[in-house]
Amino acid sequence: MMQPAAPAPEQALKTAALAAAAAGKPAPKTQAKSPAQKALEKLGLRRDIDLALHLPLRYEDETRIVRLVDARDGEVVQFEGEVVHSEILIRSRRQLLVTVDDGSDTCVLRFLNFYPSHQKTLSVGARVRVRGELRGGFLGREMMHPHFKLAGGELPGALTPVYPTSAGLPQVYLRKAVLSGLARADLSETIPAPFLSQNMPQRLSSLREALQFLHHPTPDVALQTLEDRSHPAWQRLKAEELLAQQISQLQARRVRAAMRAPALNGPVMRGTHCTLQDQLLERLPFRLTNAQQRVGLEIEVDLKKRIPMHRLLQGDVGSGKTVVAALAAARCIDAGWQCALMAPTEILAEQHFSKLISWLEPLGITIARLSGSQKPKERRQMLALIESGAAGLVVGTHAVIQDKVVFKNLALAIIDEQHRFGVAQRLALRSKMTEGGQEPHLLMMTATPIPRTLAMSYYADLDVSTLDELPPGRTPIVTKVVNDARRDEVVARIQAQIAEGRQIYWVCPLIEESESMDLVNATQTHAALSEALPDVLVGLLHSRMPVAEKKAVMSLFTEGVMAVLVSTTVIEVGVDVPNASLMVIEHAERFGLSQLHQLRGRVGRGAAASACVLLYSTGDAPRLGEVARARLKAMVETGDGFEIARRDLEIRGPGEFLGARQSGAAMLRFADLETDAALLAWAREVAPLMLNQHPELAERHVLRWLGGKADYLKA
Ligand code: ADP
Ligand code: MG
Repeated sequence: MMQPAAPAPEQALKTAALAAAAAGKPAPKTQAKSPAQKALEKLGLRRDIDLALHLPLRYEDETRIVRLVDARDGEVVQFEGEVVHSEILIRSRRQLLVTVDDGSDTCVLRFLNFYPSHQKTLSVGARVRVRGELRGGFLGREMMHPHFKLAGGELPGALTPVYPTSAGLPQVYLRKAVLSGLARADLSETIPAPFLSQNMPQRLSSLREALQFLHHPTPDVALQTLEDRSHPAWQRLKAEELLAQQISQLQARRVRAAMRAPALNGPVMRGTHCTLQDQLLERLPFRLTNAQQRVGLEIEVDLKKRIPMHRLLQGDVGSGKTVVAALAAARCIDAGWQCALMAPTEILAEQHFSKLISWLEPLGITIARLSGSQKPKERRQMLALIESGAAGLVVGTHAVIQDKVVFKNLALAIIDEQHRFGVAQRLALRSKMTEGGQEPHLLMMTATPIPRTLAMSYYADLDVSTLDELPPGRTPIVTKVVNDARRDEVVARIQAQIAEGRQIYWVCPLIEESESMDLVNATQTHAALSEALPDVLVGLLHSRMPVAEKKAVMSLFTEGVMAVLVSTTVIEVGVDVPNASLMVIEHAERFGLSQLHQLRGRVGRGAAASACVLLYSTGDAPRLGEVARARLKAMVETGDGFEIARRDLEIRGPGEFLGARQSGAAMLRFADLETDAALLAWAREVAPLMLNQHPELAERHVLRWLGGKADYLKA
């Protein structure tokens, strides 16, 4: 196929490197990595097998020549004919118009960018083969920038693959790279034949056959079965992928089961005093909910074992996870060990710190605080407390995992809002355990629950506890979607709330105006609200403020001195001010669903009826986009975090829902948990058999599919 542009001289070097990369050879030594190599690596295409497993998005049919009269507008077709007319038109810009007649009809080829070589090949009288999308145009049927070359020549026997690619990686080079990767890769079977016939929904071809077919399918295939991935070749690949995932999950589970952690049995000082947990329970101003009691027990059972706990505590915003964490910490400290609690933001860490101090200090526990903004002197004191073991509990932000922080005997690591941390950070916290060869117990907490299908497939190595009950006395939050044009009504509502002694959050998405997005920013909103509400204190909180200032603003709001807090999303996680009863979210259409739910969870924490107003603006568009509408609708219809998570998954799909960084799980590229449930069931059954009966095949299988990424599953 002819490329419209011959490479310009300055492109020659780049092109040589591209070709080398495509052929799988290293680029010429004198050069750094070529853009194409970088682009290949960015797509994760490093090994031959990675290239072989890089499957087409769709196909183009160059195997047939159609008659123009038989083709419909909108179709991508290939035809051959004679050039009957060629002219350069100068309208608003120069363009080349070429008319081709195939005997049944004519078609105009239109080029806005063209070179003399175009004109030459497409000169009157030439017979050409043309491929592109057919459209009805002013001059009759036409194609914009079609592919073309001289007519004649062999037709390919297979469909032409179109691969997912990125900028700097032309389709032709990627095709060559994949082709050579496919030729060189070791595609020997890793799944023993008996496992494939066992309960397999469909008889499946070999991996080699499946791959060769999917890269170059024969034209007689029903395209539908390739598009919906129901073709046996697709089934085969999806089965392989799911199996790799299940095996690596199982491996991770076994590795962990072989590790040792301190068993946190009972108090070190037996005798008259009752356990720290009992003392804490006595001091609490409330009774635990049934869910908190049940979950507390699940954690306690784990902590008494010598196998490190790996537990996710999921509970909707406001369900009371902090006290559960405090009880676990108390058990750990009572047994003579240290506990660390890590939170994603300073505000949240600060809030945990003051709450835990009020609960635990009266019981004689010393709590150390670590944060990025700490003065060196304070930090030195804290580090000493931690190293000597005087501090039973350490609360902080990422500062907790810095090298300088040395624990005397860490046995329990608690991570709040765990989805805000990356895998590396979780691993770093675990590595703070210094007792030879042991691992600390790990408790992760989140308000973003994991839907069941995901839990089954991504988190096989995770025990899950669920707080499915809110503390009593909470009134449901009424959520309203309001057009930004009706802002004044919202301000009137704020006034009414203030008159009742309530406090209000107002959240904005951006702190500075950007040229492209005409957003009303937090600063402007703050100024406008201060003017509209002259009798009360309106505060401003955003991420670019110095930490000390943030803390000062936050404490004014917590103490009730400040009536309205305008902020960016820094208040998203964990902030707890029960007297706040109205949450206004500006440009709600710009937020993700779980983020909206988290924000809304800042209100409805006290006994007063609470409300959430989702202000939206459509900008220049007549109405909101479909996805944004679906999100806002979900917010109005349900206040249940689990239902929100389910809808979020529905709107976004699992890949985006988890996000590789958040979950640390290798994403499924091909399989779909819903539609491929039967294959998933097969993989779950076969994975342990593979590990037990064919460990080396299992190893090879995981390496082939996950490469180095399998490690992440163990975090
Ligand atoms: P989250 O699960 O969102 O982290 P928190 O732990 O911040 O929730 O708890 C929310 C609020 O509910 C806090 O003010 C907390 O003290 C209070 N709380 C927790 N458990 C109970 C309970 N059993 N009864 C009454 N209030 C509770
Ligand atoms: Mg919390």
